[in-house]
Amino acid sequence: MSITICYDAGSAGQCAKGTDLVDMDFSPADLAFRDEVRRFLADSLPDRLRDGARRSPGVFVDPDIGLEWHRILNQKGWLAYFWPVEDGGTGWTPTQKFIFEKECALAGAPSLSIMGLRLVGPVICAFGTPEQKQRFLPGILNAEDFWCQGYSEPGSGSDLASLKTSARREGGEYVINGSKIWTTQAHHANWIFALVRTDSSGKKQQGISFVLVPMDQPGIEVSPIVSMSGDHEVNQVFFTDARTPVDNRIGEEGQGWTIAKFLLENERGGSCFAPRLLRNIDELTALAEQQPSGLNGALGGYQATREKIARLRIEAEALEVTELRILAELAKGRTPGPQTSLTKLLGANLGQRVDELRLELLGYDALQLPLERPLYGNEAPEPIGSDAAQVAMGRYLNNRASTIFGGSNEVQKNIIAKSVLGL
Ligand SMILES: Cc1cc2nc3c(=O)[nH]c(=O)nc-3n(C[C@H](O)[C@H](O)[C@H](O)COP(=O)(O)OP(=O)(O)OC[C@H]3O[C@@H](n4cnc5c(N)ncnc54)[C@H](O)[C@@H]3O)c2cc1C
Repeated sequence: MSITICYDAGSAGQCAKGTDLVDMDFSPADLAFRDEVRRFLADSLPDRLRDGARRSPGVFVDPDIGLEWHRILNQKGWLAYFWPVEDGGTGWTPTQKFIFEKECALAGAPSLSIMGLRLVGPVICAFGTPEQKQRFLPGILNAEDFWCQGYSEPGSGSDLASLKTSARREGGEYVINGSKIWTTQAHHANWIFALVRTDSSGKKQQGISFVLVPMDQPGIEVSPIVSMSGDHEVNQVFFTDARTPVDNRIGEEGQGWTIAKFLLENERGGSCFAPRLLRNIDELTALAEQQPSGLNGALGGYQATREKIARLRIEAEALEVTELRILAELAKGRTPGPQTSLTKLLGANLGQRVDELRLELLGYDALQLPLERPLYGNEAPEPIGSDAAQVAMGRYLNNRASTIFGGSNEVQKNIIAKSVLGL
């Protein structure tokens, strides 16, 4: 692979003299790393997990599938590759991280639960005390702890800083009251990291603190929210005099908003969208070759179908180049900043278009929505038609959420308008 990107290209698409050239060639060392990752995936990724990932209609991978892969990666030492080396990271370059994610996507590996690894883990690495790191990081790595994210509240989603869940100090503890909503996999979690209001006297961004709260206590109730596909992935969490030690606060009291923004940047831009999109587009291509057109041959033989798939592929490849460009920035020690809003917006929209085209290709076969779970393994219901048809509608319905969670499309556009376009 050889891509050369030039910033500030002239209107004719030529690199203007003196502009910043980024050489995106993979070095021989990167190519050797890619081969090592490929060998590892061929040897260590069980077909059962690959099948489970392919046949999961949810937004988030089921814990039984994701955690098994999590443990395999941890044993290899390749799990927390975006953490600092001293806290358990791999020390990989941004390019190596990209290669790893791309190869995992191409191999059909399950995605991992992000709550511990990608969200609270990096926060603890960056803002935690040595004692907090020692207390919480091993539990994330060895999967003894399962985390959920307590940010959104009824009435405080996009306008997160308006959150009202309160934490009152009582001796060495915080006493927490209020409610969090859309809390992904809270019904599996034994810990929640939460933004709470420790002071309501100043501006809304002030007086917020970031606390870690054990879920297994009488003051916490988890109430399921079942999505329109019939999946139970999200919840409302109620806090009624729930307690956590003051020592479980990350950072200073009132520093929560700074930490919240750090975490959101990781959530939006922590990983690359393009590799999984490109794999899904490969699957669409294969599907089109199999689906009868009803007239003459398969749908894949028709120019209209090929054009639709090609358009998606071109846009996904363009996104991949943008993601590579962000990696080049990171390699120079710069932060991705608002560019993560750009990739989140493009990635989520493209993902939904892939889901729509899958339904279009499957036609009548996609009109099924089994409510049994899981759709993989020995207990799975028999598919009507193909496996792909069995999960297509569930994936489509669940993935409608991707342009809402982690900051909605409109919110990402506002950030881009302000920070990138200067409007
Ligand atoms: C499947 C799923 C999983 C989630 N998981 C979690 C989780 O684990 N933890 C967690 O804390 N949260 C989670 N969320 C919540 C998610 O972050 C919020 O839904 C999201 O931030 C939007 O907030 P809201 O739902 O309150 O919508 P609102 O903020 O009320 O927005 C409603 C509509 O108004 C638009 N809008 C709002 N403000 C503006 C503006 N300033 N300019 C233009 N348009 C605007 C929005 O784009 C949206 O279309 C999840 C959500 C979903 C759907």
